[in-house]
Amino acid sequence: MRFLPVFLDLHSGAVVLVGAGDLVRAKLRLLASAGARVRWYATDGNHDLGGLGADDAARVELATGDPLTADLNGVIAILCAGAGSIGPAMSVRAKAVGLPVNVMDDLEHSTFIFPAIVDRGDVVVAVGTGGASPVVARRVRERIEAVLPARIGELAGFIGRWRKTIHGLIGEFPLRRRFWERVVDGPIGALVLAGRSEEADAALKDIRNVSEFAGALPSGTAEGSVTLVGAGPGDPDLLTVKALRALQDADVIFYDELVTPEILDRARRDASRVPVGRRVGKPGIGQDAINRCLIEAAKSGQRAVRLKGGDPFIFGRGGEEIKALRQANVSYSVIPGITAGLGAAAQFEVPLTFRNEALRVTFLTAHKARDAEAVDWSTLTDIAMTIVVYMGMTAAPSVRAGLLAAGRSPQTPVGVFARATRVDAAAAIGTLDELPDLVEKIAGGPAILIIGDVVAHSAPARHQQLNQLASYFQVAAE
Ligand code: SAH
Repeated sequence: MRFLPVFLDLHSGAVVLVGAGDLVRAKLRLLASAGARVRWYATDGNHDLGGLGADDAARVELATGDPLTADLNGVIAILCAGAGSIGPAMSVRAKAVGLPVNVMDDLEHSTFIFPAIVDRGDVVVAVGTGGASPVVARRVRERIEAVLPARIGELAGFIGRWRKTIHGLIGEFPLRRRFWERVVDGPIGALVLAGRSEEADAALKDIRNVSEFAGALPSGTAEGSVTLVGAGPGDPDLLTVKALRALQDADVIFYDELVTPEILDRARRDASRVPVGRRVGKPGIGQDAINRCLIEAAKSGQRAVRLKGGDPFIFGRGGEEIKALRQANVSYSVIPGITAGLGAAAQFEVPLTFRNEALRVTFLTAHKARDAEAVDWSTLTDIAMTIVVYMGMTAAPSVRAGLLAAGRSPQTPVGVFARATRVDAAAAIGTLDELPDLVEKIAGGPAILIIGDVVAHSAPARHQQLNQLASYFQVAAE
C-alpha cells in the first residue's frame, strides 16, 4: 500500500484548484458537492461554473493572479486538473511548503490521489488502486454500492446523535462497543434502515438498563468468550461468513502457524494478534499455555478468537481446547472451516468419493514415523476407500511400507498436494510405490497425501496422462 486512505476535514480550510476545461469542472463539482471551500485559478481565464447549483457556487472563490506565487495561507490541499505545465510547477511549490497536492493523472507529481467514492452521508467508502486503475476502483465501488443498505449513512448519523449520551451511561469501552453492536445488528438498527428513525429513537430511549442490554455480567463488566474459528487451508476467500464476522468482532486473536497473513488481514485492525503455534525453528508455547491464554482472555472480558488452519476439529486440538474451556466455565463456540484435505481435493479436482470406486474416506494423521507404525494398516486396505493423510510428509516412507505390507497395491494412485489453495500450491502425482519420491519433489509443506483410485481422476493426473499420450505420439511420428 503506497497511499494510505485518510479523510480530509473540509471545514478546516480552503482547497486550491488549478486548471481549465471539463477536467477541472468535474473536480469542481466533486469538491463543491462535498462541501469544500474552493479557490479556483482558471488557467485559461474561463471561470464558467458549468451549471453548478447556487449553494455550491457560493463556496467557490474565482481567484485571479498567478497560482504559482499566490498566498497559500489557510489552504489544506492543492489540486490541478487540466492545468498543463502549471501542474508540475504547482506540485514543486506545494511540496516545498508541505501541502498535499494532486496533479490529475500524474502520480509522479502527486502526494495524494482521489479514490472512487461511495457516498452515503456519514458513511463514506474510499476505494483506491494506488493510481493503477481507476476502472478497477470503479468496479469495486459498484459492488460496494450494491451491498450497502441505502440508509447506512442514516444509521451512522443516528448513532452519532446518541453517542455522547451512551458514553455517559457506559464507561467501559468493550461494553459500549457491544451496546452499539446490538443496536446496529438488532431491531433498532433495522428500524433506522427501514427509514423509521423516530421509532428507533423511541426504542433506544426505552432501554431501561443499557449495560444489561449490552450483555453485561452482574458485575457490570462485559462477558468474555472464546470462539474457535476454522481459517480454512490458506485462501482467505475460503473463510466462512461466520468466521469473517468473528474475526471482525475479535479483541484478541490467538493463531497458529498455518494461518496465512492474508487471512489475518481480514481481522479487525484493532484486535491484538498473538502467535501461539510453532515458528520456523522454534516450538510453540504448548497446549496448556494456549488453554490458559484463552481462559484468561475470556475472563478479562475479551472476545478471544482461537484461529486455526483448516477445521478446528480435524487434527486441530479443538477438542482439547473446548474441554479446558468447559472446565473453566468460559463461554465458547466453534465455527467450522474447510479442512486442508477438502481444500486440496477441490483445487486439484480429486473426487474423494466416486460412484462404486470410492465409498469411504478416512482422515488419518501420521506425524512421525512412530505414529505411522502405530496405525493398524490392515483396516485401510479396502480399495474402495480414499485415505487422506495429514502431517504425513516425514512419515511418507512408513505410510508406504505400512500400506504395502497390509496388501494395498503398489500401483494405487497417490497425490501429494502442498500449500493447497495458497498462491504457491503444487501437486505431485504417482503411485503408492513412489510416495517418498513424490514428497521429495514437492518443495516444502504443508502437504496432504491422498491415496486411492480417485486420484487418477484428478486434474494433475489427467495432465500427466495427456502429456504421456503426446510424447507417445511424438515418438510414433519420429
Ligand atoms: N486443522 C487442520 C489440520 C492441522 S494438522 C485442517 O483441518 O486442515 C496440519 C497438517 O494439515 C499439515 O501437516 C498438512 O498435512 C495439512 N495442511 C494444512 N494446510 C494445508 C494446505 N494448505 N495444503 C496442504 N496441506 C495442509
